[in-house]
Amino acid sequence: MTWPTFRLLASLKHGWTDKRHEALVASSAWSEMPPFSQLGHPAIQVCQGFSDNPASDKYEEHKGSTRTAGYKVVEARDTSKGPGWRTAMINMHGTTWAVFADTHDKFHASAPNAFKRKQYLEPSEDDITIHEIKLKEDETNAAIKNWQREMVRTMLDLFREAYLSEGAEGSEITKLIPEPPKDLLPAGVDGLNANITLTVMRDSDEDCSFDEAHKEQDDAIELGISFEPWKVDEILKDLILSAVLPVIDPDEERWTKDAGYYSKNGDLCFSYFISVARASQLIYSAESDEETEEAPKEPQATQSAHYVTRTEIVASVVEKRAIRSVCGFWFVSSRVPDGFPICEECLDALPEASAVHRFLRQRTPGSAG
Ligand SMILES: [Zn+2]
Repeated sequence: MTWPTFRLLASLKHGWTDKRHEALVASSAWSEMPPFSQLGHPAIQVCQGFSDNPASDKYEEHKGSTRTAGYKVVEARDTSKGPGWRTAMINMHGTTWAVFADTHDKFHASAPNAFKRKQYLEPSEDDITIHEIKLKEDETNAAIKNWQREMVRTMLDLFREAYLSEGAEGSEITKLIPEPPKDLLPAGVDGLNANITLTVMRDSDEDCSFDEAHKEQDDAIELGISFEPWKVDEILKDLILSAVLPVIDPDEERWTKDAGYYSKNGDLCFSYFISVARASQLIYSAESDEETEEAPKEPQATQSAHYVTRTEIVASVVEKRAIRSVCGFWFVSSRVPDGFPICEECLDALPEASAVHRFLRQRTPGSAG
């Protein structure tokens, strides 16, 4: 990764490929920016492959600048279309810095002169400080995403176990919430040690078919989630809820506004009614870990409930991107309300021996065979 200095950023008055980044730089909104190495300008992007592949013909020592600087200056050449940016890179404080850039002819005319006053180009105290801060932020964000991925997977396992375990009145399964990155915990606290419990309630009358028992409720099943002990701060709470709740119900409107309440012993609880179709979708996702090779496509509108793999559920919750169904359909899960019938093509693609088949046979006599 090559890090542009503040001075270089301030000098990039045109050529931005990301207008949002251009505006953030123009207004010096440093705290809102991504790591500077990700900023959308060709003069910055052309430098990014350097540490991995310094021998690439995009990079070459810039003799004129090296002479005036007294140390090695490398030129990065943007050979894509447009004005042809050239960027000067130097190594300092254990990092490669992008310190000077201009379009082709201007660069060659001015870079050696600029390095005559190299103290103005070299990274300042502020550059070094923000470099460290941004790298730390980036690391933390990546750790949070990994934690949320783990929580989504845990939630799917929990759901599957609770649903498939036999019990006349339902079942209750508790799992430990995966531990968050240590940085997120208050000083002196070793771990979160919080549980998530999922309760599936079914009609107690075993003779009554599922369809009959739930006629009034549109084939729905109630479930509750409770966390205990609930002694985490708001940030942690939000991170947990934004990972586990959309697994059950991707429609955020539903759970943020109506579904949450505190039980008598202080646990945070949520209850939902979900359709048999959705339950079978989640069981399928808990069982299937395959990754799709395809790059995400434009999402399409759908009138069916599709099966998707666990990897896709994780992506829909954590990356908030469109996901691919088993039948090859791209869609945004939060835009598909619960209650649509199961997609016939997805159903046909299910392995006969899967738990989903068993589940559907048990819960919807006659309809899933
Ligand atoms: Zn489908």
